[in-house]
Amino acid sequence: MRNLSIQMKMIIGVICFTLLIVSLERYQFSENIVEQFIASQKSKNRLLIDTISPVISLNASLGLSDANKEYLDRIVEQNDDILSLTLRDNDGKMVYSYVKNNEVHFPARADEIHYFMKRIVDPVTEEYYGKADIYFDDHEYQAVIHKNRVITLQIFIVTFVLLIGFIFLIKREFRYLQKLTENVLTYDPQLNNFRLAKSDRKDEVGIIHNAVVALVEKIDSYAKLLHETNHSLEEKVALRTKELQDANRQLKELSVTDPLTQLSNRRHFETHLHDVWLLAKRSHLEISVIMCDIDYFKTVNDQFGHLMGDVVLKEIAAILTASLKRSSDFVARYGGEEFIIVLYDTKITAAEELCRTIQNRLKETGSFEYQGVKTEPITMSFGISNMIPSKNNVEEDLIKFADLALYKAKEDGRNRIVLSMD
Ligand code: GH3
Ligand code: MG
Ligand code: MG
Repeated sequence: MRNLSIQMKMIIGVICFTLLIVSLERYQFSENIVEQFIASQKSKNRLLIDTISPVISLNASLGLSDANKEYLDRIVEQNDDILSLTLRDNDGKMVYSYVKNNEVHFPARADEIHYFMKRIVDPVTEEYYGKADIYFDDHEYQAVIHKNRVITLQIFIVTFVLLIGFIFLIKREFRYLQKLTENVLTYDPQLNNFRLAKSDRKDEVGIIHNAVVALVEKIDSYAKLLHETNHSLEEKVALRTKELQDANRQLKELSVTDPLTQLSNRRHFETHLHDVWLLAKRSHLEISVIMCDIDYFKTVNDQFGHLMGDVVLKEIAAILTASLKRSSDFVARYGGEEFIIVLYDTKITAAEELCRTIQNRLKETGSFEYQGVKTEPITMSFGISNMIPSKNNVEEDLIKFADLALYKAKEDGRNRIVLSMD
């Protein structure tokens, strides 16, 4: 039944429904026939009585009681369905009596007997002669009617059962489709939660079911592929992000580093000084700034070339870095052959001390060498400023005063340390 096509099932449904209608129609039709049948039976019996009554009244008026008897005997002989016939005169005396098979044997059912009574009167004078009582047996007709009803009922019941069965079948089909629909609606490719396997049904429902299962399998495989692609994409993105972060870090370092000396550049110095200024301002701590410049550096370039100048710059940068003691000490290339040192929470005397250290190291180094050529010993001039940040000063003052002090050191003959008076 499962493999029958929907078209076939619909045809069966239509046939069942038609059979039901036909059986109802047949039932109605047979009921009509029964009514007709009973009516014709009654009219036949009435006709019989109406026929015998003039003969009886004629015989009675002529006093031919034997003729009456003979006539009535022939009548009951010819009509097998007469159960009894009684004829009484006008005094009520029984003048003729017939009982079928000489015994009173009436059918069990009342509707299988018909009773008729006929007054016998003279057709001319209308004189009353008596009455005839007749019982007719209808049971043969009733049996036919009954049989007809039973068959009709049986057809009706069979058709009805078929129709009910068909309705249940259709309902079951819809349950199948409903289950499929529920699975499709709750299906989530990420959870891979479609639980229906392929069906072996060959009908349209089976075809639809298998098409949905195939579709879900495709979606699952695409979802898996998508997941894998996403995963590898995420890995690629993570790798690229890390590369980008590294590149950014390098870029940031480059943007704050002087390429020749690898010291912080002027831009970095400015942001550093700003941060340190705010910190010191909040903590009421002093800052010392040293601005230093190589003496007669132009001569080095002029005498030995720019490459030698670069070597000197790099080595002096290394000396400056090596001379710093605290992690908060900061040195940057301010520009050309000028350097700047920021000393957080440092007294001007300690800054001066640092300058001396640098001077000593330069002295220890003596001359600088490049490709076998040596420079003269190189010296530096230093200008130091010192301040406790407050609302009365700005960070640029530190640079300005250090610069002024440096200018004075140069003016005073170079290779010396000048402390700003402010
Ligand atoms: P002073 O004692 O008054 O400071 O004299 P100076 O010669 O040191 O100063 P000046 O300003 O006259 O000359 C500085 C020179 O520094 C000029 C420039 O060519 C040189 N210079 C600046 N930056 C660089 C650099 O990156 N490499 C090299 N080799 N030379 C540089
Ligand atoms: Mg100089
Ligand atoms: Mg200079």
